[in-house]
Amino acid sequence: MNPERILLSSPHMGGTEQEYIAQAFQDNWIAPAGPHIDLFEKRLAAFFNEKVEVAALQSGTSAIHLGLQLLGVKKGDVVLCQSLTFVASVNPVLYLGATPIFIGSEKSTWNMCPIALEAAIQDSLRKGISPKVILVVHLYGMPAKMNEILALSKQYNIPILEDSAEALGSTYHGKYCGVFGAFGVLSFNGNKIITTSGGGALVTHSESDKKQAVFLATQAKEEATHYEHTQMGYNYRMSNIAASIGLGQLEVLQNHVQLRRQNHVFYQQIFDEISGITLFQEPDATFVSNHWLNVILLNSFEEREALRLHLERYNIESRPVWKPMHLQPLFQDALYFGDGLAAELFDTGLCLPSGSNLFSEDLNRVKAALELFFNNCDL
Ligand SMILES: *Cc1c(COP(=O)(O)O)cnc(C)c1O
Repeated sequence: MNPERILLSSPHMGGTEQEYIAQAFQDNWIAPAGPHIDLFEKRLAAFFNEKVEVAALQSGTSAIHLGLQLLGVKKGDVVLCQSLTFVASVNPVLYLGATPIFIGSEKSTWNMCPIALEAAIQDSLRKGISPKVILVVHLYGMPAKMNEILALSKQYNIPILEDSAEALGSTYHGKYCGVFGAFGVLSFNGNKIITTSGGGALVTHSESDKKQAVFLATQAKEEATHYEHTQMGYNYRMSNIAASIGLGQLEVLQNHVQLRRQNHVFYQQIFDEISGITLFQEPDATFVSNHWLNVILLNSFEEREALRLHLERYNIESRPVWKPMHLQPLFQDALYFGDGLAAELFDTGLCLPSGSNLFSEDLNRVKAALELFFNNCDL
């Protein structure tokens, strides 16, 4: 008998989502407009403990697209992008006809390396190109080295778009990820910290930026009864039903973060006992990751594949670390500044089940399968 599949990260309902949905049905707000969208934005903005505004959108990808556009990215522009990420971070650069230049990872956070970033900026400037945006990612919930990256952003006057899709609830020097850049990006896809069944948001620092994002997300309709247009817009607004799910999810957001952090402690205890395997962790207490996914580094590509297939036999999902963008065929012509670390993380890194809805039986199954693998390896 095959036991039920244990997933990396699956939707985890809090319990009140259906009440909000029922309310939306009752009021007939089954549309990409309605009171739950506004309420979701208000409550989400309040979560950050900072003066921010939130524009609720259909996806994190659409938030990146709008963020880049609001930062003035146009055809032919250059965007400095973290290479080690999910493709959704970079596809919107292509939507706008801009060119990504990829930046490698640094050891302690696996995120954008400030030294490689500065090398890329200087190389561009030497060629007479002023990069338009720095697109940094908090991968797997781990905050990037924002102090260093913010300093470069200031020094060279290049704004930051902060892809916080995996890092809702993570903090860096006591501040929530998503508030550091000119714009922050959140995702509420089914596998993220909270889900709206598909959704995202742009975090802004002014009401006018938020209004502009919503304007572009609703077909750029000017004030006129007949629908007047002076700009190209998009159909990117979150639906009132998705926002209803989001309202229920916000009630359990902190709890989900705590549960994921507990999963991390669970893996710490396992890998403390297994020599040679590194569990990805915060470099120091100024970084607090939500541990969206727990990741381990094995000793080789072969060992990583062997463990992945071993877990598969026990119906446990695991997945290699993101394949860096500079190694993707889609971006074969792009420039890359960085060393081999991102490629090495891809070769030897494996993401393990990390959902906030894992029961102790699930975790015990994962533990048993891991121990079986590593005990046999020692023989
Ligand atoms: C999930 C994700 C996105 C995109 O979010 P969607 O809501 O799926 O469009 C962007 N960047 C990163 C790093 C992600 O993990």
